[in-house]
Amino acid sequence: MNFETLAIHAGQTKDPVYGAVMTPIYQTSTFAFKGVNQPGPFDYSRSGNPTRKALEDCLAALEGGTHGFAFATGMAAEATVLEIFQPGDHLIVHDDLYGGSYRLLAKIVKARGIDVEFIDLRKLDLLAAKTKSNTRGIWIETPTNPMMNLVDLEAISAFAAPKKILTICDNTFLSPYFQRPLEYGIDIIMHSTTKYINGHSDVVGGALIVKDPQLAEKIGFLQNALGTCSSPFDCFLVLRGIKTLAPRMRCHHENALALAHWLERHPKIEAVLHPLLESHPQHQLAKKQMKGGGGTFSFKVKGAEQEAFRLLSAVKLFTLAESLGGVESLIEHPWTMTHISMPEDVRAASGITRNLIRISVGIEHIDDLISDLEQALEKV
Ligand SMILES: *Cc1c(COP(=O)(O)O)cnc(C)c1O
Repeated sequence: MNFETLAIHAGQTKDPVYGAVMTPIYQTSTFAFKGVNQPGPFDYSRSGNPTRKALEDCLAALEGGTHGFAFATGMAAEATVLEIFQPGDHLIVHDDLYGGSYRLLAKIVKARGIDVEFIDLRKLDLLAAKTKSNTRGIWIETPTNPMMNLVDLEAISAFAAPKKILTICDNTFLSPYFQRPLEYGIDIIMHSTTKYINGHSDVVGGALIVKDPQLAEKIGFLQNALGTCSSPFDCFLVLRGIKTLAPRMRCHHENALALAHWLERHPKIEAVLHPLLESHPQHQLAKKQMKGGGGTFSFKVKGAEQEAFRLLSAVKLFTLAESLGGVESLIEHPWTMTHISMPEDVRAASGITRNLIRISVGIEHIDDLISDLEQALEKV
């Protein structure tokens, strides 16, 4: 079946009791046994819940995996999957990633005795040079946040797979509608479902998706043992959001690309970072591994922090807020907002400057979005 159909039907069986067409919210902590030693398909909601199962199966289908796991937040999904690694393991991480992922890896995972090394994975020869006998994992995000750099999914997995190095890809920015890393040989997909997958900025959630049964068993064990799962109500909301993922993504993509082209021609703009612009240094790779651009990209206003702040203060339709992937348009300043948990030198090294602005383009009418940025740029 096609993506749009799976988004509405995968994992969602008709309710056997009353025939409810939508998956009910099974808001229960525990489930009755049929008799002594006879549990039903579910026994306790941390271990499994029917609403969560419907979401998990739907997520697996959309990513082309076999098993999905839903978590309380994107960070809960990350913290859980990182428990696969043991003290003494070496983990290679792309040096340009979501601020919270950086904080988890640099502050918490490192303190567990895991040798976390951040390198620029656009340079594949660097990857070969830095790989050690104890390298167990490679963590990537593509496109990256907020620099919109790409990592070559096929090349990374071709390097890692023969060495049995586990590859994990944060696929939050594009969602499976535009990019399916499992198809390129990546082992584990991670999502902040808070973003495009739910799409309505009314829930925080995370997910992991795999297609290897042994990995699925490990993650299922960790999800239950750590208790990082998502609640039935949140799963219901994400499942509802997913139903419109395809048309939303098409609209995010169109609006964002139109805005990116418009900004690129604006005299007060220094640069636009969007992988589907021909000016992007990895445009060819973008065309190869991405079916669309999603709704999030960054740009630099001419000038410094002051100019960026003027623009951010002048927008009316765009909301000044962190997060991304909702139906409404947001704008933010990575240097002082989303990426403040990175030390200044790390921010600077990854190319984040004080005049950099990131926008999450919603699905409003494109003319209204352009008018808003136009009037705001007049005040810069
Ligand atoms: C938001 C985000 C996360 C973290 O997810 P939460 O749901 O906020 O915990 C991780 N990676 C990326 C790319 C994100 O945008």
